[in-house]
Amino acid sequence: VSTRKEAGGQRISVCVRKRPLTYAENRRGEADVVTAHDGDSVVVHESKEAVDLTQYILQHRFNYDEVFGEESSNVDVYLKTAFPLIQHVLNGGKATCFAYGQTGAGKTHTMLGCPPQRQGLYALAARDIFTQLHSTQDCGNSTVPSHVYVYVSFFEIYCGQLYDLLDCRKRLFAREDGHQVVQIAGLREVKVESVNSLLEVILWGTGERTQGVSGVNPVSSRSHALLQIQLRDSGNRATGKMSFVDLAGSERAADSRDPDRLSRMEGAEINQSLLALKECIRSLDQEQSHTPFRQSKLTQVLKDSFVGDSKTCMIANVSPSHLATKHTLNTLRYADRVKEL
Ligand code: ADP
Ligand code: MG
Repeated sequence: VSTRKEAGGQRISVCVRKRPLTYAENRRGEADVVTAHDGDSVVVHESKEAVDLTQYILQHRFNYDEVFGEESSNVDVYLKTAFPLIQHVLNGGKATCFAYGQTGAGKTHTMLGCPPQRQGLYALAARDIFTQLHSTQDCGNSTVPSHVYVYVSFFEIYCGQLYDLLDCRKRLFAREDGHQVVQIAGLREVKVESVNSLLEVILWGTGERTQGVSGVNPVSSRSHALLQIQLRDSGNRATGKMSFVDLAGSERAADSRDPDRLSRMEGAEINQSLLALKECIRSLDQEQSHTPFRQSKLTQVLKDSFVGDSKTCMIANVSPSHLATKHTLNTLRYADRVKEL
């Protein structure tokens, strides 16, 4: 436990965000069974049936680094999750922010938001990166190299395969070079010079993600989306990297009885990657020489985020509805295991 909050700051932070009941859920009379309070604890009120068939409520309490209730805005969430990571990245470090949770729990709302009115973590981070780069470049502050350029890439992992969201969903391949660095050959990196152009690129990629999909079972819920903001100095050397990962819906991992073979395969793949992710994040906190990043495509392409002085933040998103109780408990237990040493 002592290593977690040592000098240099915490390397892993695990947070939970509860969204409000939606208008439709309210109209259907769904009950809110999640209480988020004290800023660091969350309680799930699970309805149970006793042996004599009377009803009772079982309470499950969990603690995290931060808990955001339904009244929290994306700005509130940003300030306590991605903001400290951005500071680390501007100082040349690497950081990753994950949105975890079942489909409909609020991952994309947190990451992307509803631009331009309600911005998510992508946009809030972009704004801070450009503001801080400009201010340090203007006043000659020495903490950031004088010329830093911003590049963005955006790709998706579906069934263990990589697709470039900024290049017509071109299939990509990851391989380790002679120095054990994982490279994604041909990944498009777009140079951006302002917040707005970065946001345009993100919206373009998001559009690619959802294209040609029948509302029922959207690909976006079955794939991981990785947005990476890479900083480079005038010699084209990498100086800092921020990754945002909007993970595949965690409920798929649980459903192995799906009658459809493709869905079962997708579920197995997602399960594998979420398990590997948990192990890799946990190994960040331990003086472990072996990080099992090869166990899934997701952890393989994020290898550099699990070594060195990288920082990680996981935001576990949960729905308040009583109909989601089982998935909510699964999400909270997963998040609990990620932070536990
Ligand atoms: P996911 O990406 O996890 O599948 P979404 O982000 O698409 O889930 O959220 C599902 C629905 O709930 C959307 O209609 C979204 O606008 C709404 N929603 C999610 N989080 C919030 C929130 N914090 N406040 C208000 N509405 C939210
Ligand atoms: Mg989503």
